[in-house]
Amino acid sequence: MKIAVLPGDGIGPEIVAQAVKVLKVLASDGLKLELQEAPIGGAGFDAVGDPLPEATLALAKASDAVLLGAVGGPQYDSLPRDKRPERGLLRIRKEMNLFANLRPALLYPELASASTLRPEVVAGLDIMIVRELTGDVYFGQPRGIETRNGERVGFNTMLYAESEVRRVAHVAFGIAMKRGKKLCSVEKANVLECSELWKEVVIEVAKEYPEVALSHMYVDNAAMQLVRNPKQFDVIVTGNIFGDILSDEASMLTGSIGMLASASLDANNKGLYEPIHGSAPDIAGKNVANPLATILSVAMMMRYTLNQEASAQRIEAAVKKVLAQGLRTADIYTDGTKKVSCSAMGDAVVAAL
Ligand code: NAD
Repeated sequence: MKIAVLPGDGIGPEIVAQAVKVLKVLASDGLKLELQEAPIGGAGFDAVGDPLPEATLALAKASDAVLLGAVGGPQYDSLPRDKRPERGLLRIRKEMNLFANLRPALLYPELASASTLRPEVVAGLDIMIVRELTGDVYFGQPRGIETRNGERVGFNTMLYAESEVRRVAHVAFGIAMKRGKKLCSVEKANVLECSELWKEVVIEVAKEYPEVALSHMYVDNAAMQLVRNPKQFDVIVTGNIFGDILSDEASMLTGSIGMLASASLDANNKGLYEPIHGSAPDIAGKNVANPLATILSVAMMMRYTLNQEASAQRIEAAVKKVLAQGLRTADIYTDGTKKVSCSAMGDAVVAAL
Protein backbone atom coordinates (compact mmCIF):
# COMPACT_ATOMS: atom_id res chain seq x y z
CA MET A 1 0.00 0.00 0.00
CA LYS A 2 1.62 3.18 -1.22
CA ILE A 3 1.08 6.33 0.79
CA ALA A 4 2.14 9.75 -0.43
CA VAL A 5 3.09 11.93 2.53
CA LEU A 6 2.70 15.66 1.90
CA PRO A 7 3.57 17.61 5.08
CA GLY A 8 3.02 21.10 3.60
CA ASP A 9 3.60 24.25 5.63
CA GLY A 10 3.46 25.71 9.13
CA ILE A 11 2.68 23.01 11.67
CA GLY A 12 2.21 20.53 8.77
CA PRO A 13 5.65 18.89 9.08
CA GLU A 14 5.37 18.63 12.91
CA ILE A 15 1.96 16.96 12.97
CA VAL A 16 2.63 14.73 9.95
CA ALA A 17 5.83 13.49 11.63
CA GLN A 18 3.68 12.15 14.50
CA ALA A 19 1.28 10.45 12.07
CA VAL A 20 4.25 8.88 10.29
CA LYS A 21 5.42 7.42 13.62
CA VAL A 22 2.02 5.75 13.88
CA LEU A 23 2.23 4.41 10.32
CA LYS A 24 5.68 3.00 11.10
CA VAL A 25 4.31 1.10 14.10
CA LEU A 26 1.63 -0.44 11.88
CA ALA A 27 4.28 -1.32 9.29
CA SER A 28 6.53 -2.93 11.88
CA ASP A 29 3.53 -4.99 13.00
CA GLY A 30 3.06 -6.41 9.51
CA LEU A 31 1.16 -3.93 7.30
CA LYS A 32 2.94 -3.57 3.98
CA LEU A 33 3.23 0.20 3.75
CA GLU A 34 5.44 2.22 1.46
CA LEU A 35 5.74 5.90 2.39
CA GLN A 36 7.11 8.58 0.12
CA GLU A 37 7.29 12.27 0.95
CA ALA A 38 6.85 15.26 -1.38
CA PRO A 39 6.35 19.03 -1.03
CA ILE A 40 3.02 20.81 -1.52
CA GLY A 41 1.75 24.34 -0.89
CA GLY A 42 4.34 26.90 0.15
CA ALA A 43 6.89 24.10 0.44
CA GLY A 44 6.21 23.23 -3.21
CA PHE A 45 6.59 26.84 -4.21
CA ASP A 46 9.87 27.11 -2.29
CA ALA A 47 11.17 23.90 -3.89
CA VAL A 48 10.23 24.38 -7.54
CA GLY A 49 8.07 27.52 -7.81
CA ASP A 50 4.77 25.62 -7.95
CA PRO A 51 2.35 24.91 -5.03
CA LEU A 52 1.58 21.56 -6.67
CA PRO A 53 4.83 20.36 -8.24
CA GLU A 54 4.44 17.92 -11.16
CA ALA A 55 6.35 15.26 -9.25
CA THR A 56 4.08 15.63 -6.22
CA LEU A 57 0.94 15.22 -8.32
CA ALA A 58 2.44 12.21 -10.09
CA LEU A 59 3.32 10.63 -6.74
CA ALA A 60 -0.18 11.30 -5.39
CA LYS A 61 -1.80 9.75 -8.45
CA ALA A 62 0.45 6.70 -8.26
CA SER A 63 -0.29 6.16 -4.55
CA ASP A 64 -3.23 4.41 -2.92
CA ALA A 65 -3.72 7.21 -0.43
CA VAL A 66 -2.38 10.66 0.35
CA LEU A 67 -1.67 12.00 3.83
CA LEU A 68 -1.56 15.78 3.93
CA GLY A 69 -0.62 18.17 6.76
CA ALA A 70 -1.74 21.69 5.93
CA VAL A 71 -0.73 24.46 3.57
CA GLY A 72 -0.37 28.22 3.76
CA GLY A 73 1.46 30.94 5.61
CA PRO A 74 1.73 34.72 5.71
CA GLN A 75 4.98 34.69 3.72
CA TYR A 76 3.02 33.40 0.69
CA ASP A 77 0.04 35.77 0.91
CA SER A 78 1.45 38.29 -1.57
CA LEU A 79 2.20 35.73 -4.30
CA PRO A 80 0.13 35.77 -7.52
CA ARG A 81 -3.09 33.80 -6.97
CA ASP A 82 -2.02 30.71 -8.98
CA LYS A 83 1.20 30.40 -6.94
CA ARG A 84 -0.47 30.53 -3.54
CA PRO A 85 -0.37 27.40 -1.35
CA GLU A 86 -4.16 26.97 -1.30
CA ARG A 87 -4.15 26.60 -5.09
CA GLY A 88 -2.02 23.50 -4.68
CA LEU A 89 -4.64 21.97 -2.42
CA LEU A 90 -7.58 22.85 -4.68
CA ARG A 91 -5.73 21.51 -7.70
CA ILE A 92 -4.75 18.19 -6.14
CA ARG A 93 -8.40 17.60 -5.07
CA LYS A 94 -9.59 18.36 -8.60
CA GLU A 95 -6.86 16.39 -10.36
CA MET A 96 -7.61 13.34 -8.22
CA ASN A 97 -11.40 13.64 -8.78
CA LEU A 98 -12.12 13.73 -5.08
CA PHE A 99 -15.87 14.30 -5.12
CA ALA A 100 -16.84 12.95 -1.70
CA ASN A 101 -15.72 14.82 1.37
CA LEU A 102 -16.01 12.99 4.68
CA ARG A 103 -15.98 15.06 7.83
CA PRO A 104 -16.53 13.21 11.08
CA ALA A 105 -17.55 15.18 14.14
CA LEU A 106 -16.50 13.04 17.04
CA LEU A 107 -16.26 14.15 20.61
CA TYR A 108 -14.37 12.13 23.17
CA PRO A 109 -16.12 12.18 26.56
CA GLU A 110 -12.89 13.50 28.14
CA LEU A 111 -13.14 16.64 25.96
CA ALA A 112 -16.86 17.32 26.39
CA SER A 113 -16.15 20.55 28.27
CA ALA A 114 -14.44 21.97 25.15
CA SER A 115 -17.82 22.31 23.41
CA THR A 116 -20.02 25.36 23.75
CA LEU A 117 -22.97 22.98 24.08
CA ARG A 118 -23.89 21.29 27.34
CA PRO A 119 -21.78 18.15 27.92
CA GLU A 120 -24.81 15.84 28.03
CA VAL A 121 -25.87 17.04 24.57
CA VAL A 122 -22.49 16.35 22.95
CA ALA A 123 -20.60 13.79 25.06
CA GLY A 124 -19.99 10.70 22.94
CA LEU A 125 -21.06 12.50 19.75
CA ASP A 126 -19.99 10.54 16.66
CA ILE A 127 -21.43 11.68 13.34
CA MET A 128 -20.11 11.62 9.81
CA ILE A 129 -21.02 14.24 7.23
CA VAL A 130 -20.55 13.22 3.60
CA ARG A 131 -20.47 16.36 1.49
CA GLU A 132 -20.50 16.31 -2.31
CA LEU A 133 -17.46 18.35 -3.27
CA THR A 134 -17.37 19.02 -7.01
CA GLY A 135 -20.90 20.06 -8.07
CA ASP A 136 -23.90 22.15 -6.96
CA VAL A 137 -24.33 25.92 -6.99
CA TYR A 138 -20.55 26.35 -6.57
CA PHE A 139 -19.89 25.04 -10.06
CA GLY A 140 -23.22 25.19 -11.95
CA GLN A 141 -23.50 27.29 -15.12
CA PRO A 142 -24.67 29.90 -15.96
CA ARG A 143 -23.34 32.17 -13.26
CA GLY A 144 -22.42 35.82 -13.13
CA ILE A 145 -23.34 39.41 -12.40
CA GLU A 146 -25.07 41.42 -15.13
CA THR A 147 -27.37 44.37 -15.62
CA ARG A 148 -31.05 43.68 -16.15
CA ASN A 149 -33.72 46.38 -16.28
CA GLY A 150 -31.23 48.99 -15.20
CA GLU A 151 -29.91 47.24 -12.09
CA ARG A 152 -27.24 44.64 -11.40
CA VAL A 153 -28.30 41.08 -10.68
CA GLY A 154 -26.12 38.28 -9.41
CA PHE A 155 -27.00 34.67 -10.25
CA ASN A 156 -25.74 31.11 -9.79
CA THR A 157 -27.17 27.80 -10.87
CA MET A 158 -27.85 24.97 -8.46
CA LEU A 159 -27.31 21.92 -10.64
CA TYR A 160 -26.81 18.21 -10.02
CA ALA A 161 -26.66 15.49 -12.66
CA GLU A 162 -28.16 12.25 -11.38
CA SER A 163 -24.80 10.51 -11.88
CA GLU A 164 -23.22 13.01 -9.46
CA VAL A 165 -25.87 12.35 -6.83
CA ARG A 166 -25.70 8.61 -7.36
CA ARG A 167 -21.94 8.32 -6.86
CA VAL A 168 -21.88 10.34 -3.65
CA ALA A 169 -24.94 8.47 -2.39
CA HIS A 170 -23.07 5.19 -2.93
CA VAL A 171 -20.14 6.50 -0.90
CA ALA A 172 -22.48 7.57 1.91
CA PHE A 173 -24.39 4.27 1.98
CA GLY A 174 -21.07 2.40 1.96
CA ILE A 175 -19.92 4.41 4.98
CA ALA A 176 -23.23 3.90 6.77
CA MET A 177 -22.73 0.14 6.26
CA LYS A 178 -19.35 0.44 8.04
CA ARG A 179 -20.91 2.43 10.90
CA GLY A 180 -24.38 2.49 12.49
CA LYS A 181 -26.36 1.74 9.28
CA LYS A 182 -28.33 5.00 9.50
CA LEU A 183 -28.21 7.60 6.73
CA CYS A 184 -29.94 10.98 6.66
CA SER A 185 -30.10 12.73 3.29
CA VAL A 186 -30.30 16.50 3.70
CA GLU A 187 -31.81 18.75 1.02
CA LYS A 188 -34.49 21.36 0.44
CA ALA A 189 -36.87 19.36 -1.74
CA ASN A 190 -39.90 21.36 -0.60
CA VAL A 191 -38.56 24.38 -2.51
CA LEU A 192 -35.81 23.33 -4.95
CA GLU A 193 -36.18 21.08 -8.03
CA CYS A 194 -32.49 20.27 -7.77
CA SER A 195 -33.14 18.88 -4.29
CA GLU A 196 -36.22 17.00 -5.55
CA LEU A 197 -34.02 15.13 -8.01
CA TRP A 198 -31.38 14.60 -5.30
CA LYS A 199 -33.96 12.96 -3.06
CA GLU A 200 -35.34 10.75 -5.85
CA VAL A 201 -31.88 9.47 -6.77
CA VAL A 202 -30.93 8.80 -3.14
CA ILE A 203 -34.12 6.75 -2.75
CA GLU A 204 -33.21 4.76 -5.89
CA VAL A 205 -29.70 4.05 -4.61
CA ALA A 206 -31.12 3.01 -1.23
CA LYS A 207 -32.62 -0.11 -2.85
CA GLU A 208 -29.08 -1.49 -3.11
CA TYR A 209 -28.54 -1.03 0.64
CA PRO A 210 -31.57 -2.61 2.31
CA GLU A 211 -29.76 -2.79 5.67
CA VAL A 212 -29.35 0.98 5.90
CA ALA A 213 -32.20 2.99 7.43
CA LEU A 214 -32.59 6.04 5.19
CA SER A 215 -34.26 9.24 6.34
CA HIS A 216 -34.68 12.67 4.74
CA MET A 217 -34.44 16.09 6.32
CA TYR A 218 -34.72 19.65 5.04
CA VAL A 219 -31.52 21.58 5.51
CA ASP A 220 -33.02 24.23 7.77
CA ASN A 221 -34.30 21.56 10.12
CA ALA A 222 -30.93 19.72 9.94
CA ALA A 223 -29.11 22.90 11.00
CA MET A 224 -31.45 23.13 13.99
CA GLN A 225 -31.30 19.42 14.89
CA LEU A 226 -27.48 19.48 14.84
CA VAL A 227 -27.43 21.78 17.86
CA ARG A 228 -30.65 20.51 19.46
CA ASN A 229 -29.92 16.79 19.47
CA PRO A 230 -26.82 15.99 17.38
CA LYS A 231 -26.55 12.41 18.65
CA GLN A 232 -29.64 11.42 16.62
CA PHE A 233 -27.41 11.34 13.51
CA ASP A 234 -25.08 8.61 12.28
CA VAL A 235 -24.21 9.52 8.66
CA ILE A 236 -25.48 12.62 6.83
CA VAL A 237 -25.19 12.97 3.06
CA THR A 238 -25.75 16.31 1.40
CA GLY A 239 -24.79 18.55 -1.49
CA ASN A 240 -21.86 20.91 -1.70
CA ILE A 241 -23.27 24.14 -0.28
CA PHE A 242 -25.44 22.57 2.43
CA GLY A 243 -22.51 20.32 3.38
CA ASP A 244 -20.12 23.26 3.51
CA ILE A 245 -22.28 24.95 6.12
CA LEU A 246 -23.41 21.89 8.10
CA SER A 247 -19.94 20.35 8.35
CA ASP A 248 -18.54 23.54 9.87
CA GLU A 249 -21.45 23.68 12.27
CA ALA A 250 -20.93 20.03 13.22
CA SER A 251 -17.19 20.41 13.72
CA MET A 252 -17.73 23.21 16.19
CA LEU A 253 -19.99 20.98 18.27
CA THR A 254 -16.77 19.36 19.38
CA GLY A 255 -15.02 22.64 20.13
CA SER A 256 -11.52 21.42 19.33
CA ILE A 257 -10.17 22.03 15.85
CA GLY A 258 -7.00 20.05 16.55
CA MET A 259 -8.96 16.82 16.94
CA LEU A 260 -10.89 16.54 13.68
CA ALA A 261 -9.82 14.49 10.68
CA SER A 262 -11.20 14.47 7.15
CA ALA A 263 -11.09 12.45 3.96
CA SER A 264 -11.81 13.26 0.33
CA LEU A 265 -12.53 10.24 -1.84
CA ASP A 266 -12.80 9.41 -5.53
CA ALA A 267 -15.02 6.80 -7.16
CA ASN A 268 -12.61 3.99 -6.22
CA ASN A 269 -12.26 5.05 -2.59
CA LYS A 270 -8.80 6.33 -3.26
CA GLY A 271 -8.41 9.32 -1.03
CA LEU A 272 -6.68 12.29 0.44
CA TYR A 273 -6.61 12.45 4.23
CA GLU A 274 -5.97 15.60 6.22
CA PRO A 275 -6.85 17.37 9.44
CA ILE A 276 -9.60 19.98 9.01
CA HIS A 277 -7.46 22.75 10.49
CA GLY A 278 -4.94 24.93 8.65
CA SER A 279 -1.19 25.44 8.99
CA ALA A 280 -1.48 27.47 12.23
CA PRO A 281 1.47 29.78 11.51
CA ASP A 282 1.05 31.34 14.98
CA ILE A 283 2.33 28.15 16.64
CA ALA A 284 4.46 26.63 13.85
CA GLY A 285 7.91 25.39 14.81
CA LYS A 286 7.15 25.45 18.54
CA ASN A 287 6.31 21.76 18.97
CA VAL A 288 2.99 22.61 20.64
CA ALA A 289 0.47 21.73 17.89
CA ASN A 290 -2.07 18.98 18.44
CA PRO A 291 -1.18 16.05 16.15
CA LEU A 292 -4.31 14.01 16.95
CA ALA A 293 -6.39 15.22 13.98
CA THR A 294 -3.62 14.07 11.66
CA ILE A 295 -3.21 10.77 13.48
CA LEU A 296 -6.98 10.24 13.29
CA SER A 297 -6.76 11.00 9.55
CA VAL A 298 -4.51 7.94 9.32
CA ALA A 299 -7.24 5.93 11.06
CA MET A 300 -9.71 7.12 8.41
CA MET A 301 -7.24 6.15 5.69
CA MET A 302 -7.00 2.64 7.13
CA ARG A 303 -10.80 2.36 7.21
CA TYR A 304 -11.89 3.95 3.94
CA THR A 305 -9.09 3.44 1.45
CA LEU A 306 -6.86 0.63 2.70
CA ASN A 307 -9.62 -1.55 4.19
CA GLN A 308 -7.70 -2.12 7.41
CA GLU A 309 -10.53 -1.75 9.90
CA ALA A 310 -8.57 -3.39 12.71
CA SER A 311 -5.74 -0.87 12.31
CA ALA A 312 -8.25 2.00 12.21
CA GLN A 313 -9.77 0.85 15.49
CA ARG A 314 -6.35 0.31 17.00
CA ILE A 315 -5.36 3.93 16.28
CA GLU A 316 -8.65 5.29 17.58
CA ALA A 317 -8.34 3.23 20.75
CA ALA A 318 -4.79 4.53 21.26
CA VAL A 319 -6.01 8.14 20.96
CA LYS A 320 -8.79 7.43 23.46
CA LYS A 321 -6.23 5.92 25.80
CA VAL A 322 -3.89 8.93 25.81
CA LEU A 323 -6.85 11.22 26.46
CA ALA A 324 -8.00 8.98 29.31
CA GLN A 325 -4.45 9.17 30.69
CA GLY A 326 -5.00 12.93 30.94
CA LEU A 327 -2.45 13.93 28.30
CA ARG A 328 -3.35 17.15 26.45
CA THR A 329 -1.67 19.46 23.97
CA ALA A 330 -2.06 23.16 24.77
CA ASP A 331 -5.19 23.66 22.63
CA ILE A 332 -7.23 21.12 24.64
CA TYR A 333 -5.55 21.61 28.01
CA THR A 334 -7.75 22.13 31.07
CA ASP A 335 -6.92 22.24 34.79
CA GLY A 336 -6.06 18.86 36.22
CA THR A 337 -4.70 17.42 32.96
CA LYS A 338 -1.08 17.11 31.84
CA LYS A 339 0.17 19.44 29.12
CA VAL A 340 2.44 17.73 26.57
CA SER A 341 4.21 18.79 23.38
CA CYS A 342 3.31 17.73 19.85
CA SER A 343 6.06 15.13 19.69
CA ALA A 344 5.34 13.85 23.22
CA MET A 345 1.69 13.37 22.22
CA GLY A 346 2.85 11.40 19.16
CA ASP A 347 5.11 9.27 21.37
CA ALA A 348 2.24 8.66 23.80
CA VAL A 349 -0.01 7.44 20.97
CA VAL A 350 2.78 5.16 19.77
CA ALA A 351 3.18 3.78 23.30
CA ALA A 352 -0.59 3.25 23.56
CA LEU A 353 -0.60 1.43 20.22
P1 NAD B 1 -5.80 27.49 11.24
O1 NAD B 1 -6.70 26.33 11.28
O2 NAD B 1 -4.45 27.28 10.71
O3 NAD B 1 -5.67 28.11 12.71
C1 NAD B 1 -6.76 28.61 13.46
C2 NAD B 1 -6.41 28.60 14.96
O4 NAD B 1 -6.42 27.25 15.42
C3 NAD B 1 -5.01 29.13 15.26
O5 NAD B 1 -5.03 29.82 16.48
C4 NAD B 1 -4.17 27.88 15.38
O6 NAD B 1 -3.04 28.03 16.22
C5 NAD B 1 -5.16 26.88 15.93
N1 NAD B 1 -4.85 25.51 15.49
C6 NAD B 1 -5.07 25.00 14.25
N2 NAD B 1 -4.65 23.73 14.18
C7 NAD B 1 -4.17 23.43 15.40
C8 NAD B 1 -3.55 22.27 15.97
N3 NAD B 1 -3.38 21.14 15.26
N4 NAD B 1 -3.15 22.32 17.25
C9 NAD B 1 -3.31 23.43 17.99
N5 NAD B 1 -3.89 24.55 17.51
C10 NAD B 1 -4.29 24.56 16.24
O7 NAD B 1 -6.57 28.62 10.41
P2 NAD B 1 -6.09 30.08 9.96
O8 NAD B 1 -5.28 30.69 11.05
O9 NAD B 1 -7.30 30.74 9.48
O10 NAD B 1 -5.15 29.83 8.70
C11 NAD B 1 -3.73 29.73 8.76
C12 NAD B 1 -3.19 29.32 7.41
O11 NAD B 1 -3.69 28.01 7.09
C13 NAD B 1 -3.65 30.23 6.27
O12 NAD B 1 -2.60 30.37 5.36
C14 NAD B 1 -4.81 29.45 5.64
O13 NAD B 1 -4.97 29.76 4.28
C15 NAD B 1 -4.33 28.04 5.81
N6 NAD B 1 -5.40 27.01 5.83
C16 NAD B 1 -5.07 25.82 5.26
C17 NAD B 1 -5.99 24.79 5.30
C18 NAD B 1 -5.57 23.46 4.72
O14 NAD B 1 -4.41 23.26 4.46
N7 NAD B 1 -6.49 22.53 4.54
C19 NAD B 1 -7.23 24.95 5.92
C20 NAD B 1 -7.51 26.17 6.53
C21 NAD B 1 -6.57 27.21 6.49
